[in-house]
Amino acid sequence: MIDKILSIFKLNQPKPIQRVEWVNGELVIPDWLKGDGEPVKQPEYVRPVHRCTKWILLAGNIYGDEHYSCAVLIETRNLIAWITRHAENTSVSILAQQQAKEYMPTWFAMAENEDETVTILDEHMKKVVHEYIANFEAEGTTRFYCPSCKTTYSSVKDIEHESSKNGNWRSWKNEYHCHNGHRLYYKESRMHFMPSRK
Ligand SMILES: [Zn+2]
Repeated sequence: MIDKILSIFKLNQPKPIQRVEWVNGELVIPDWLKGDGEPVKQPEYVRPVHRCTKWILLAGNIYGDEHYSCAVLIETRNLIAWITRHAENTSVSILAQQQAKEYMPTWFAMAENEDETVTILDEHMKKVVHEYIANFEAEGTTRFYCPSCKTTYSSVKDIEHESSKNGNWRSWKNEYHCHNGHRLYYKESRMHFMPSRK
């Protein structure tokens, strides 16, 4: 069922293609490129028709997360204050993601809190929360399910390796481990530093 829902979201993505003509290697400037055409309309967000439950899945295999080998959960009520501030103070250029974020405080507030099942977010809502998982973890509101231990932990060991330098590149690794040493999260990051001009 969830696979089906996710595939519908993918199918609805429009292909942003506009035809241009090249004559003798020169681009013939069409009206839409001159600025006379209609702006490309972004797809609108489609609100879920169901209510969310007590638990929200922030990360996990079902989302195709490459960095998490565990399920990260949070109680919906613990997200309301954050998402309200976040929706008021930030904006993104992707229309559907922006509209999803604006709807999330309302959707979380009307959660069925007596329902202990886990709610899987659609791709837009998931993008809103995904990059803040480390912040929620630091606040101690997340729950990590380790598939090896078959246990849910309220804290993890956060391991940051020393960064290494290779020319103008700097790289570092972050890991989360459960209390029995199973790796739940792994990410290698690289950043390029521009050489200073003399
Ligand atoms: Zn474990």
